[in-house]
Amino acid sequence: MSDLQEAWADLLRRRPTFRDSLTIYGDILEGWARWSPPRPLALAPSPEAWRGSWERGTPLVAEAAGALRAADVEDLVGGAMEVLARAEPALAPALQRFAQAWDRGVIGPAALLPARGRIGSSAADVSGLGADAVAFLAGASLRPALEALFAPAREHLAESGWSLGICPFCGSPPGFIDVVEDGRRVLACHLCGGAWPFAKLRCPFCGVEGAAHQVRLTPEEAREEGYLVSACRECRGYIKEVDRRARWNAGPPLVEDWGSPHFDLVAHRQGYWRPVPSIVQLAR
Ligand SMILES: [Zn+2]
Ligand SMILES: [Zn+2]
Repeated sequence: MSDLQEAWADLLRRRPTFRDSLTIYGDILEGWARWSPPRPLALAPSPEAWRGSWERGTPLVAEAAGALRAADVEDLVGGAMEVLARAEPALAPALQRFAQAWDRGVIGPAALLPARGRIGSSAADVSGLGADAVAFLAGASLRPALEALFAPAREHLAESGWSLGICPFCGSPPGFIDVVEDGRRVLACHLCGGAWPFAKLRCPFCGVEGAAHQVRLTPEEAREEGYLVSACRECRGYIKEVDRRARWNAGPPLVEDWGSPHFDLVAHRQGYWRPVPSIVQLAR
């Protein structure tokens, strides 16, 4: 069992009511755990170039797009498509078109990577899958490959001063927020497993700054100490967060996000959206 699988099993023990409705996430984690890269994927070390890129406000997504071949992630993408088709049978015809486009080489790994803060918009056009489904597919497939790819770059981020609301590695919008011991906010990227510190009162999606623009949703019906939905009045984007000072037993950000669909429902009901789609959003 992988660490994420263990954390997921632990979350389902804490929230057993989700056991049946969230089987898709267990299936995704199983696919990742089974996968091994067909060749070594790590980016060739070039810390100078990476730091230069970060100083210009550019994530390393072009490096990833250049390095990944279709064959590298074929098993991951195929597995994620099967899982998605099982969970949402209505998507099967569009997934079929996506598979055909992939086989013809019209769509490749680059099409699943983020561009301008949105994930997979070009692949959505080709397959008719819809932007949310493509983004979900990217999130359900690429992570183990991107983790391997960016592993050499992680330690070089610290001094770069990266302050944007997108992942400095893959360029994805953040999927979750951790509030860590000293009260700082750390954004988490689900797509590649990256993490980076972020300003306390800034919206990661539109960049607006100040408490007046932010809403904290902690609805009565889903109140749980340490958890909240942080939403923006301006762009209507939302993201869930956990305060690890109040929740010492919280799991990795991906697991906490996947395991709290009740908060997504509350945010959606109030008209907020998230760029990294949850299964709740896909099922609507
Ligand atoms: Zn990332
Ligand atoms: Zn905003």
